[in-house]
Amino acid sequence: MTDLNVPLSDDFIVPINRDVGATLRTDGENHCTYLCGNSLGLQSKTSAEFVQEELHVWATRGVIGHFSHPHNRPWTKCCDDIHPLLAELLGANEMEVACMGTLTNNLHLMMDSFYKPTQTRFKILCEVRAFPSDQYAFASQALAHGLDPATAILEVSPREGEFTLRAEDILDIIDREGNSIALVLFSGVQYYTGQWFPMEVITKKAKAMGCVCGWDLAHAAGNVPLSLHDWDVDFAVLCTYKYINSGPGGIAALFVHEKWHEVEKPKFAGWWGHELSTRFAMPPTFSPIRGAQGFQQSNPSALTVAALLGALTVIKKAGMMPRLRERSVQLTGALEKLLKQSQYFVPPSQIPQNGTKIGFTIITPEEPSARGAQLSLLFLPLGSETMRIVHDYLLRSGVIGDEREPDVIRLAPAPLYNTLKDCEHAAEVLETGLIFAENK
Ligand SMILES: *Cc1c(COP(=O)(O)O)cnc(C)c1O
Repeated sequence: MTDLNVPLSDDFIVPINRDVGATLRTDGENHCTYLCGNSLGLQSKTSAEFVQEELHVWATRGVIGHFSHPHNRPWTKCCDDIHPLLAELLGANEMEVACMGTLTNNLHLMMDSFYKPTQTRFKILCEVRAFPSDQYAFASQALAHGLDPATAILEVSPREGEFTLRAEDILDIIDREGNSIALVLFSGVQYYTGQWFPMEVITKKAKAMGCVCGWDLAHAAGNVPLSLHDWDVDFAVLCTYKYINSGPGGIAALFVHEKWHEVEKPKFAGWWGHELSTRFAMPPTFSPIRGAQGFQQSNPSALTVAALLGALTVIKKAGMMPRLRERSVQLTGALEKLLKQSQYFVPPSQIPQNGTKIGFTIITPEEPSARGAQLSLLFLPLGSETMRIVHDYLLRSGVIGDEREPDVIRLAPAPLYNTLKDCEHAAEVLETGLIFAENK
């Protein structure tokens, strides 16, 4: 049992109230309450140090830094230290992961290789209201194959009056529609509701029905424990700036299961996917690295790789997912308990139809096994100004969560740097924010 009042890692730089615009606070020099690691994780001192080192190598060695590097991270091999750490985080082997590109780019690359619709098997199954970038990617991929997104994309919706998906409903659709589904592609943890889908059983069912199964791990990586290899996931894509803390727009990653490594997958090739032994001989014909790294296209940005290496080093030092998850379950459970004590809390099943009373509910599942760090608060009455007013109040009070239209504020205690005090403070400020909204 760890002390929830002390951060798991003291390596993080927490912004101060003045700098985040917390104008209601008189203690501008104090740290803000940052509960937004689901959107952009905080900077670690290790990331800052590694990036500074790269800038220095660039300044002092120029192009020589590609092959000769004082910190033993020559830029031609700068992802070598990343891959084993990513593999451990994702439950994969090193050849199954590649540090590259951005999430949406990687999603398109993976769909290009793995989404091969036929006359009879052409559908993509996903959750309703997936992250917009994913929706656009799915629709444009369908169009690129001459398909109508309206018939090619199959979405699973919550039942009437519910906010999250039931595993049984997802499995049932795969059972019924499986023969027409080419690709099952959900997010591991849903960005809006915070629901962690039962990834292993969904993957198993999809495979049993002959579908390819991929995952978008934007909100799952660094948040919940994953065993992509053992779960027999075909491919996955992720960004690293949320729970992995690599910095805004940080370099992303993908996973391709080992069983595909012997199968020559069509790919949009680039020189960085070519075997290292002959890459710089510049041969005219592409000879891919075996495994996920054969999908690499461009030489990676050494600055963003350095930031990611710093972030992963901190996670490794903190004990990787077992430690992070243990603490995450405790912190999120504590925040939930505090929020439910509010006079404004309404259980999700008791939301009045045409209510006018100000309040909030939590739409994220209650079972820890069906969620990660994030709690999604839905403000009432629905479609009112409550969410806006409360979010603005939180921000001005130095409590950083984030809002998602129409009515949701997401709060995510990140196990690496948040504490029980952060949760207590956020719950307190939320209460005064709701009183403020009620009296407005
Ligand atoms: C954050 C997020 C993205 C962001 O995509 P980028 O390509 O990194 O800009 C995409 N999909 C999901 C599900 C996300 O949560």
